[in-house]
Amino acid sequence: MTLWGGIEGGGTKFVCAVADERLNILSEAVFPTESPEKTVEAIANFFFAQEQVLGPVSAYGVGSFGPLRRDPLGPGFMGIGNTPKAGWKGFALRRVLQERLGRPVALDTDVNCALQAEMKMGVAQGLRHVVYVTVGTGVGGGLCIDGRIVHGSAHSELGHMLVPKRPGDEAFPGVCPFHGDRCVEGLASGPALARRLGRPAQEVPAHDPIWQLQAHYLALMCHNLIQTLSPECIILGGGVMNQPGLLALVRSALRESLGGYCASEALLAKGHEVLVAPALAGRAGVLGALMLAQGVSQVGQTAPHVEWVE
Ligand code: ADP
Ligand code: ZN
Repeated sequence: MTLWGGIEGGGTKFVCAVADERLNILSEAVFPTESPEKTVEAIANFFFAQEQVLGPVSAYGVGSFGPLRRDPLGPGFMGIGNTPKAGWKGFALRRVLQERLGRPVALDTDVNCALQAEMKMGVAQGLRHVVYVTVGTGVGGGLCIDGRIVHGSAHSELGHMLVPKRPGDEAFPGVCPFHGDRCVEGLASGPALARRLGRPAQEVPAHDPIWQLQAHYLALMCHNLIQTLSPECIILGGGVMNQPGLLALVRSALRESLGGYCASEALLAKGHEVLVAPALAGRAGVLGALMLAQGVSQVGQTAPHVEWVE
């Protein structure tokens, strides 16, 4: 039996899973994100213990928080970039894991992994042009165009897209450490909501006017994504989207923002259905990481990185 290892690395926790060739998860564990060294040790111990029981793991895939360094000629290739997370900046995550685990390791962003999983097994099956957005502690996203995950020279940072402020919202300073109140993350992430409200967003009832404002900013981001990329659908996930009724508010704010115009008549005809909730919820990231493991195994250990296959 061929086994794959999947690792979803987040700012607060790492999810590890072993799966068979059909991506049935056979064993799973969650570790808090500590120093890079401690975290890698916990990951390695878990997989070594599983191998004793289940057999050898062929390859590993990692979907990680970012930013990730993806320039093959630059320093720290396939490691963590300029993160404020203590100890992690410049950590060569892929190389260290590969050395410790002794198997090929492929690395991509957590959101690209979630996107890939939703396209293969979730809500976007059969589509070729898809955007995945997570609205949580940060706002981030992954893009797939013509059936290929798009990285550019590193990877997209959708959450730092600039959006105009809604009249009446001028006083809010925003929470983005880089762009203040100018980007979506600064205006509409979970911490932005908490700062506006003085309490966690999940404690605020659905009828509160804050959700109209939140939907307005998320709709502007979706408007820009549609006009730039012409996707068939945008998946809106992340903790904040658990708010009951928020997806419906974003859908109607988007319709208003588009004003009846975008290049794809099919997309306009789809109307509300262009914005969808994820189907795999908390499992998307680790499933996408397992798919990445399958890909690296096919390409071989020496591949500097893996282009995801259609
Ligand atoms: P992370 O981004 O750290 O991976 P999540 O995607 O779970 O984590 O997002 C966490 C954020 O989602 C927090 O800011 C939290 O306040 C917010 N959140 C969680 N549940 C809800 C809810 N029902 N309504 C609105 N916000 C929520
Ligand atoms: Zn920003």
